[in-house]
Amino acid sequence: MTKNTRNAVVFTDMDATLLDHDTYDWAPAAPALAALAEREVPVCLCTSKTAAEVRDWQARLGLKTPFASENGGVVAVPAGYFDSGPPVADTGWQTTTLGQPRDVLCALAYGLREQRGYRFTGLAEMSIADIAAATGLNESAAALAGQREASEPLLWQDSEEAAEAFRREIEAAGAMTRRGGRFLHVLGQADKADALAWLRARYDKRGPILAIALGDSENDRAMLAAADIGYWVARPDGGYYAPATGTMRHAPGIGPVGWAAAIHALIDGDEL
Ligand SMILES: [Mg+2]
Repeated sequence: MTKNTRNAVVFTDMDATLLDHDTYDWAPAAPALAALAEREVPVCLCTSKTAAEVRDWQARLGLKTPFASENGGVVAVPAGYFDSGPPVADTGWQTTTLGQPRDVLCALAYGLREQRGYRFTGLAEMSIADIAAATGLNESAAALAGQREASEPLLWQDSEEAAEAFRREIEAAGAMTRRGGRFLHVLGQADKADALAWLRARYDKRGPILAIALGDSENDRAMLAAADIGYWVARPDGGYYAPATGTMRHAPGIGPVGWAAAIHALIDGDEL
């Protein structure tokens, strides 16, 4: 075993990639995570989840590494992990907003509703019980999901035409919208690829890194393209979001099974 002589860093999506799409189980990936830990390869979670949710998951996964939350809108680094950074909050994390602060996005979205009469309910208007009912999360998980810093999810109750008009107005104001499984998200202009670039610039100060990214869907595409090696894990139906071309490969397996297969293939192929 060699200790990360290539300076590899793994950037990974969570839902339907490291975690099973339906059960959130990550047991199939546990041996691969352990192999990375032995080699001292950092694993940076890059997800649509909130920072509060990611910190909760990191405790379960045994990680204390930089991560990107809210689709790259926020990056968080453990205090002292890199030499410099913004002032350390009392949480022990240095947090940077790459997108736009939630209050700015809320003012924009709710201001447009006021002017144009769009029909939606925003997360900021929902109780924890409302969020739990809308997401299927239990109340403690719903509370963590509600702690947004750089995005505002909306339960859209208007027409598709209205959603398109809303999207154009949001973009004209310098922000963007993205469809999730349940919500229409209002985000700043930052995605997972921006988060990878931000973190890469800081890791590179110790020597150029080999960036490896893993994902399953549309919001991972730019991150996989920005990495040196990108792996698509198979989706629940067994298919892949995009073809294996250039630096992008297909991991043989769905979600965390594919995740583990990709990591073991890199190790066995002496690429990591
Ligand atoms: Mg995913």
